[in-house]
Amino acid sequence: MCGIIARVGDGDAIRKLVSGLENLEYRGYDSAGVAVQNGSGISVYKRSGQVSELKDALVGSVPNGKVGIGHTRWSTHGPPTDENAHPHTSQTDEVAVVHNGIIENYAELKATLSDAGHEFTSDTDTEVIPHLFEYYLEDADDIAEAFRKTVRDLEGSYAVAALVDDVHAIYAARQGSPLILGLDDDEYYLASDVPAFLDHTDDVVYLEDGDVVVVEPNGVTLTDLAGARIDRDVERVDWDPEEAGKGEYDHYMLKEIHTQPNALSNTIEGRIQGDEVHLESFPEGTFDDVEDVHLVACGTSYHAAMYCQQQLADAGIRAQAYRASEYVDANPGPVSGETLVVAVTQSGETADTLGALRQAKEAGAQVVTVTNVVGSTAARTADEALFIRAGPEIGVAATKTFSSQAVTLSLLAIRLAEDVPGASPPDDVATLLDDVYDLPEHVDNVLKTSDARAIAESYIDSQSYFFIGRGLNNAVAKEGALKFKEITYEHAEGFASGELKHGPLALVTPDTPVFTLFDGAGDGKTLKNAEEAQARGAPIVAVASEDHSGVDVADDHLAIPDTHPVWAGLLANVQLQLVSYHAAQLLGRPIDKPRNLAKSVTVE
Ligand code: GLU
Repeated sequence: MCGIIARVGDGDAIRKLVSGLENLEYRGYDSAGVAVQNGSGISVYKRSGQVSELKDALVGSVPNGKVGIGHTRWSTHGPPTDENAHPHTSQTDEVAVVHNGIIENYAELKATLSDAGHEFTSDTDTEVIPHLFEYYLEDADDIAEAFRKTVRDLEGSYAVAALVDDVHAIYAARQGSPLILGLDDDEYYLASDVPAFLDHTDDVVYLEDGDVVVVEPNGVTLTDLAGARIDRDVERVDWDPEEAGKGEYDHYMLKEIHTQPNALSNTIEGRIQGDEVHLESFPEGTFDDVEDVHLVACGTSYHAAMYCQQQLADAGIRAQAYRASEYVDANPGPVSGETLVVAVTQSGETADTLGALRQAKEAGAQVVTVTNVVGSTAARTADEALFIRAGPEIGVAATKTFSSQAVTLSLLAIRLAEDVPGASPPDDVATLLDDVYDLPEHVDNVLKTSDARAIAESYIDSQSYFFIGRGLNNAVAKEGALKFKEITYEHAEGFASGELKHGPLALVTPDTPVFTLFDGAGDGKTLKNAEEAQARGAPIVAVASEDHSGVDVADDHLAIPDTHPVWAGLLANVQLQLVSYHAAQLLGRPIDKPRNLAKSVTVE
């Protein structure tokens, strides 16, 4: 996982590196470190804990240096200790390296280097990189070639950036982990993600797997692993630096919940014409040959995939949502050129989802990714990418990206139904598409009137929290429970309403509130299921429109505006996001950085 940053330019690097790391902390935050090169040795400052602790440690002792690297870690090899924090250095401290990814052949490399007299001081896989680089530097005339030799020996995934003592340059490469070059007038950045340097520049080059880059004060040299020069286009990102900050909110999560109306407007914009869906990259007839659809995803994205699966099934399209990790390991059944595989990943870097995507591609399927990040590995690996346009999401718990994924996937379901033989869009597609335009305003209304804080307070001492829903709301119930457990650390489960009586009802007590989601489809049965739980003493919180019959039966109510059943679940989800947020706040949890988690899960 991890976030890396590097910077070359005039003036001191260190403050820019540290503030860049703060914007990368969503990628990992168990240790942090920086190294700068100042002509008299490489200075390394690193420690376990968050970037703020590194920042405190640097007060009063800021090392000089115009060239530097930084890292915020989510460990894969070795616990989060000071020794295991990056940057890692070589035998004579001539080289320092930061790395995101996993070096799979590190044990082999370590053994060879140990035989050559190198001593290692950490448990990480990363530490072999600076040692290997130094080893190749010993007889090298050309530092860049020594670096390429180093990288050619690495197996696994990496975005890596290295400093060499007394050399005003950064040596960097990527394979399987993201790395983006930022170009300003008089300085250059390399980072795992754009917000790391967005305060300074929005001109970027998305590096590709196999790229090696040498960044010097007067320019950038880009080659492949063999040293042949390559060119990549400079692109301008349209993210506002303000958007990447917390603004007036206490937490990124709260900010991201509140920016959903805007994110949703962007998601929808230009994609509907009358009662038809027009998605860029999918001209009429694109899906004429599709016979079945596999949706692959993890975590919150999986719940958005479930939301889509139901709509595809309703349109008469054979569809199944798979957890990406299972798709890779278990046999998903026959995949052919008529299978459309939709890989849903917010970051576009989720290792499990990329694994499933690559496997499907090899099997000959048509592969589309639904992602938030232009230039991500998923976007570049899939045959086509459909962007959710939610803007950067920093809070580890996904909120606005779930809403934007669910809407994008709902539009994709209708678009598929327009092409796939034998399928047809819902009879009320005109109303459905008309109502989606109201969704941003409805979300805004929920945000302004929500009683989620009071509900969270009423139930804060509960033993467990259950969420139930039917059809589309089964996906929302599961997403509500995932959000709740991620950020409150309390036990929460989401069930298909009808399943409660087949086992989970044994857990129901007066200390287990049951959040019951009503969307106007199949609500009668869901109400019965809620009453079954209520009869066993469980308080019922109905998430439903004002005049819904479930509200009279329930003990409490979270209101959502009246709308088409396909969009009602997304409004209910906003209420549940707020309940989770407030409960986590009442419990004093670190909302944006829940323990043991990181946002973009780039390991399998
Ligand atoms: N494998 C390295 C470590 O454990 C980097 C971790 C990562 O990028 O996930 O330090």
